[in-house]
Amino acid sequence: MADCLFCRIVSGELPAERVYEDADVVAFRDINPAAPVHVLVVPRRHVATLTDAGDGEVDLLGRVLAAAAKVAGQEGLSERGFRSVINTGPDAQQSVQHVHVHVLGGRSMTWPPG
Ligand code: 5GP
Ligand code: ZN
Repeated sequence: MADCLFCRIVSGELPAERVYEDADVVAFRDINPAAPVHVLVVPRRHVATLTDAGDGEVDLLGRVLAAAAKVAGQEGLSERGFRSVINTGPDAQQSVQHVHVHVLGGRSMTWPPG
């Protein structure tokens, strides 16, 4: 989608610090990190929200999650752990309408989230 921020990052039209990519997925550092490690893992193909994902996205979303775990490993988080978050819709404060998994780590987290 031409006007989607993350589609523009995926295509290379906008810069981002990429830490991982494969045929289906791109991962890049969040511009406003909420933890020492904060990476966004996105499908190359535009899917706006988890609510918009159907049976056709099952494989793609599995690849996104697998990539999130790879990124966490690359970032040295496998042992201590990390949080993966998908915000969906206004109550969850999803601000970019292109599905993304936040991979957050490098500090101890609290629960429940705000
Ligand atoms: P959401 O609020 O939709 O779950 O997460 C969107 C995330 O995208 C936020 O954490 C925000 O900091 C990040 N973000 C917004 N604009 C940009 C940008 O231009 N580049 C990068 N790398 N991250 C961005
Ligand atoms: Zn998009």
